[in-house]
Amino acid sequence: MKYKTHLSFGILCYLSLLRYSLVDFSIAGLALFIVGSLLPDIDKHTSFIGHKAKIFSFSLELLFRHRGIFHSLWVVFLLWFINLELCLGYLSHLILDSINPKGVKFFWPWFTINGRVKAGGIVESLFFLVFCLLVLMLVIY
Ligand SMILES: [Zn+2]
Repeated sequence: MKYKTHLSFGILCYLSLLRYSLVDFSIAGLALFIVGSLLPDIDKHTSFIGHKAKIFSFSLELLFRHRGIFHSLWVVFLLWFINLELCLGYLSHLILDSINPKGVKFFWPWFTINGRVKAGGIVESLFFLVFCLLVLMLVIY
């Protein structure tokens, strides 16, 4: 999935959790949620976030491969003890990647869950559009 789709889905998840009072609003919380929604792709040096820390990202990609342990619930469990917003943002990324043909090994290295939505395809563009509209609705209402 493209970073903008992860970003819009992350913001949508944050606003939805906020609406049901499952998180408290703060700029820091929103920022951590957004970082969390992009962070799993740190294991790919050509990704939006990987591009920001190329050497670190390239090293992770060599050691763990893209969509390896960094795309698993093990990291989500670890982040749970660090920060809730970062953890939930991270989880939103994994959920979205799981509808892609490459899928996600939630319990790495076992059990790949995947779908049919191709990264950069028309369906992903529609998802992005719907996420943006829902974000707009949640902000307005
Ligand atoms: Zn990813």
